[in-house]
Amino acid sequence: MKARILYIEDNEQNLYLVTYILEKNGYEVVAARDGQEGIETAARVKATLILLDIQLPGMDGYTVAGRLRANPDLAATPIVALTSYAMVGDREKALAAGCTGYIEKPINPDTFLTQIEEHLAKAMPPGGPTR
Ligand code: MN
Repeated sequence: MKARILYIEDNEQNLYLVTYILEKNGYEVVAARDGQEGIETAARVKATLILLDIQLPGMDGYTVAGRLRANPDLAATPIVALTSYAMVGDREKALAAGCTGYIEKPINPDTFLTQIEEHLAKAMPPGGPTR
């Protein structure tokens, strides 16, 4: 069974590209356009993985990650940050905020799926998924 991925992103082009790549490969994508919507959606849908843009309007991705981690239901859900390649400190800050990993923007369509599947593999060990 393919995974459901919650994608919290305000940029339409990234949203379109990522949704296209993931859906083409059999994943279900649930989108949220800002942090508040993302937190509410995460509590409502059981996502296998949360993909979180760091640069969001209003509440930034670090704050969102902290709020997601504060929900016990999401304690084991991998949160993969989308960080800007140019912003060196972003990756460390994302991990400190509770993210389990990161993918650098700009998104590379040739490697994106592999990157996501590496994070999913870490989240779902050979013993099988927990839900
Ligand atoms: Mn953004």
